[in-house]
Amino acid sequence: MLRFIRSDIAKFTAYKPHPASDIPESVASSLAVDHLDTNESPFDLPTQLKEKLAWTYQQLIEANRYPDGGHEKLKEAIAEYVTESAALEIPVTAAQISVGNGSDELIRSVLIATCLGTEGSILVANPTFSMYSILAQTLGIGVVEVERSPENFEIDLEQAQAALELPESPVKVVFVVHPNSPTANALTLRELNWLRSLSEQILVVIDEAYFEFSQTSVVQELVQRPNWAVLRTFSKAFRLAAHRVGYCVAHPELIAALDKIRLPYNLPSFSQAAAQLALIHRQLLLESIPDTLAERDKLFNALSGYPNLQVWSSAANFIYFRPRQQDKASSYDTLTRIAGEMKAKGTLLRHTGGGLRLTVGSTEENTRTLQRLEEIIASYF
Ligand SMILES: *Cc1c(COP(=O)(O)O)cnc(C)c1O
Repeated sequence: MLRFIRSDIAKFTAYKPHPASDIPESVASSLAVDHLDTNESPFDLPTQLKEKLAWTYQQLIEANRYPDGGHEKLKEAIAEYVTESAALEIPVTAAQISVGNGSDELIRSVLIATCLGTEGSILVANPTFSMYSILAQTLGIGVVEVERSPENFEIDLEQAQAALELPESPVKVVFVVHPNSPTANALTLRELNWLRSLSEQILVVIDEAYFEFSQTSVVQELVQRPNWAVLRTFSKAFRLAAHRVGYCVAHPELIAALDKIRLPYNLPSFSQAAAQLALIHRQLLLESIPDTLAERDKLFNALSGYPNLQVWSSAANFIYFRPRQQDKASSYDTLTRIAGEMKAKGTLLRHTGGGLRLTVGSTEENTRTLQRLEEIIASYF
C-alpha cells in the first residue's frame, strides 16, 4: 500500500465503461457487439460533417496553440440553441453558460463550488444517474439518498422533505434527472412543484441529458429561479460522445464560480469545433430523433407483450424493464443472468437500480435485441 494515498480511496472502484472486453473472444470476433448500455445515439456523425470537421482541423486549428479557454464562440452558439429550443422570450446569454469536458466535469465542478470542505451534502433519489454520488464520495462529500415509488419511480417527496430538515448535514444540492436515468420518467408536476418550493439556499441541478428526446425542459424557469441549474450534453442526441462536451445553464454568479474552479483549458479545440459544427447542423443531426422514438415505441410494445416482464414507458432513448413478481434476491440474480446471457450473445445492456436499462439502437440492433431477449426469456418463464 502506498501510504501517501488518501485512505478512503481504497473503497472506490474505477469507473469501467463498456465492459466489452468481458465478451467471450469467440462471440466478439464472430458478431458485431451492440452497445446498448450507455444511451448513446446509434448513429455516427454523417460523413459530410466528419469531412467538415477534418477540414476545420486542417485549416483553422493550430495544434501548437492552446484552445480558446473561455469557449466564447461555443458558449454563444449554445446560448442561441437553448434560447431557440425553448422559444425563450428573454434570451439566454453566454454569461449564463459554462462548458465542461462532458457534463461529468460540470457535476464535479458544482460539487466543488458548493459542498467541498464544508458540512454540505447532496440529495439524490435512487435509482438515478450514479455519477452524482460517485463524484461526491471521491470528494468526501456526503450523499443523502431517498427512494422512489416502486410503481412509477416518482421521488418519495415526504422522505426527501424530511431529509432536508435533518440537522446534522445540511443538504446544499439536490440532483435530479429530467427524464431520469435509468428509469426514463420525466419529472411530474408534483415533483416540479416540490423543487419550486425549496429554499433559495439550496441549489437544484436538473440534468437534461435527454432533452432532445423528451422535449421537456425547465430552462424557461431559470430567469425566476437563481438557485436552479440545468445540465445538458452533446453526448446523446448530438452524437458526440467521443468529444466530451457538456454545458450548464444557470445564474451568472454560479457560472462564474464554476469557471473559477475548472481547469484552464478543459476542452480541446477539436471538441469545441465539433460541438459548434453540431449546433450549426443541428437540424440534420436531430432529424433521426423521430425514428429513434418510433423504434423505442416498437421495443416498448414488444417488451410489454411478455406477461412476465414489467416495462415502464419512456420519455427518453432507453427503456427500463425487469421480471415481474420476484423477491429482491432472486430478482437481482435473474437480472445479472439475463444481462450476462445477453452479453454472451453480443448485446450489452445495463443492469442497474434493480432493473435492466436498454438503449434504443438502430433498427437492426433492436431486432437483434428482441430476438436475443426472446430466446433468453423463453428459457426463464
Ligand atoms: C449520459 C448522461 C450524461 C452525459 O454525461 P457526459 O459527461 O456529458 O457524457 C449526464 N447526465 C446523465 C443523466 C446522463 O445519462
